[in-house]
Amino acid sequence: MDVNPAFLLSALDPHQREAATCLSGPVQIRAGAGTGKTRAITHRIAYAVHSGAVPGEHILALTFTERAAGELKSRLRALGVGNVQARTFHSAALAQLRYFWPEAVGGCVPQIRENKVTLAAQAAHRLNMPTNIDAVRDFCAEIEWAKSAMVAPEDYPRAALAARREEPAAGSHREIARLMKAYEEVKCERGVIDFEDVLLVLAGIIADRKDIAARIRSQYRYFIVDEYQDVSALQECLLRLWLGRRNDICVVGDAAQTIFSFAGAEAKFLLSFPQRYPSAAQIVLDRDYRSTPQIVALANALIGAGDGGSVRLRPVKPLGNPVGFAVYRDDAQEAEKIAAHIGRKIVEGRKPADFAILYRTNMQADLFERALAEKGIPCRINGNEKFFSRRQVREVMAALRGQAGSCADLPLTDVVEETLRLCGWRPTPPAESGESFAVWQALRGILDLARQWAQEEGNTLRGFAEDLAERAQTDNPPQPDAVTLCSLHSAKGLEWPVVFLTGMSEGLMPVSRAKTEALLAEEKRLLYVGITRAREELYLSYAQGNGQRPPRKVSRFLRDLWRHEASAATRKRRAQKAAQADFPVRHPNDTKLFAALCAWRGEVCAESGKTESAVMHDSVLRSIAVLRPRTLEELGRIRGVGMTKIARYGTDLLRIVNSDRGIRTPDAAQ
Ligand code: ATP
Ligand code: MG
Repeated sequence: MDVNPAFLLSALDPHQREAATCLSGPVQIRAGAGTGKTRAITHRIAYAVHSGAVPGEHILALTFTERAAGELKSRLRALGVGNVQARTFHSAALAQLRYFWPEAVGGCVPQIRENKVTLAAQAAHRLNMPTNIDAVRDFCAEIEWAKSAMVAPEDYPRAALAARREEPAAGSHREIARLMKAYEEVKCERGVIDFEDVLLVLAGIIADRKDIAARIRSQYRYFIVDEYQDVSALQECLLRLWLGRRNDICVVGDAAQTIFSFAGAEAKFLLSFPQRYPSAAQIVLDRDYRSTPQIVALANALIGAGDGGSVRLRPVKPLGNPVGFAVYRDDAQEAEKIAAHIGRKIVEGRKPADFAILYRTNMQADLFERALAEKGIPCRINGNEKFFSRRQVREVMAALRGQAGSCADLPLTDVVEETLRLCGWRPTPPAESGESFAVWQALRGILDLARQWAQEEGNTLRGFAEDLAERAQTDNPPQPDAVTLCSLHSAKGLEWPVVFLTGMSEGLMPVSRAKTEALLAEEKRLLYVGITRAREELYLSYAQGNGQRPPRKVSRFLRDLWRHEASAATRKRRAQKAAQADFPVRHPNDTKLFAALCAWRGEVCAESGKTESAVMHDSVLRSIAVLRPRTLEELGRIRGVGMTKIARYGTDLLRIVNSDRGIRTPDAAQ
């Protein structure tokens, strides 16, 4: 695909453009949620390739989950740079380990055990430590953390203390250090390696073998890391080895979204990047393109300006609906009411795929799945569905590959639909929910994807079959038109027009096991990730309990931010009052400031003889009342406030906003 580099840059704002065009040397991009980090780096890569500055095969884009890597890859493909490698650290390391192992070690790579439970249980048994599942899970978490943080068993007690890791009930820090040694022995005896060993062993090979290091370094010369706040010491070590003495690295991250520190992720690598690379270009993105100002305001209020290196978000979208807050009697009612709400919106014209229901723990999914099924609303549990491991999906893919030669001249969608029918699929969904519905939905996803493909001229059946194969490799399944049910962890990097954040009560958010300060801070960041997934509408809710006494309480993080739903009578009274006051009340919490701004406008009109709309429209005053600008620059970003209005009224408007806030500033313009 031939893409004009200048055209690529036109889709970016000035800061994103700087990030995209600063092609050599180290670059650090710190940016808040929804500010276009992923957009900036995908355009950076596309610009580098299409401008001829960097050959695509020398670029390695890295991230942390298969899903995020799939997302990166499909965005790169859309920009005409599908040949660029976008991988997780783990998959990039594994590919290299597989390739170089025979030469460096001999034979084949040992079996990789992604789950540590059995090995850890055997190690615990040897040491007469508890082997029940909770204890073993705690041991696994500590082993994983220590290996990701590159902490050797003998250093573990000191490092765990320094990192304020709580001692699990089943073993002291000293006992866990002994368990870590036993775990390594068991692993060695079984001739297997674990997830972290893939990176550790590769790092060892690169450090020891200069010839292999040189070959790897001549292949990959430019590194881009998305979500860099999630990097662990082990991944950082491998990154440095990949780089060698070079410094063509661009890292992008948001400290406020570090939500994997339980597994060794550390935002310190992002924040200290300029110290490690003193020549680094530093770029900050803070314009939130994703969410409405009301959603951004809630996110900012939760995290606080500059908290732990976070970036305060600046909204740029027009005002939307107020954030909704609801308290339900019990979990079933919460699920039922949310499903009913979604049902109504679908009738009004929304697509099921516009909605996401997010929760803290996967156990919470069940009730929502049932409530949606009862209303006939399709849903998918994100992170759970194994799209490409379904037998029926693999059969259809094989059949399509077979058709690619013989049916190349027929319309793409017809061939795909016919192939699906031959494999037993029918256009009407099965009546029952559960597995058969999930299979039907997966196959429908293939048809929907084919329809999208058919819209682009020149797309062939062979290309479609290859796209499916590549999606299978990167675990990037087609997205069905269904409500997404997903945990806050899996929601990272994604976005939906309407988001329901459920279970916002103590015990679920923060989850009851989060007791230490560090774990509580991580829970708060998780909530921040959840809030910032919403583009247009956000609803927060919790259930008082399932008969619990006393009833559940609202999450400590939201206590001061929760707006209690007004009763029907109060809503009616307010509406009547608003009608008398002759202005539409779209933001009931800001009527006081709005009224003050209207009074100011009345004075200006009286003095100048101008009409109200010539001075400032109601909609602009309402925006000022909701957004509460602190500076002239912030004021200038509000739609309808141009340079002339700032020059004439800017200081007066800031004075009114500040006095409503209770701030007395000698010079409101500062
Ligand atoms: P997260 O922190 O959740 O990973 P992010 O910073 O990576 O978010 P993106 O996903 O790249 O943000 O972008 C968020 C949304 O804003 C997307 O819908 C994207 O298309 C849109 N967006 C980003 N930059 C711009 C821009 N300059 N103009 C218009 N829309 C933009
Ligand atoms: Mg992103």
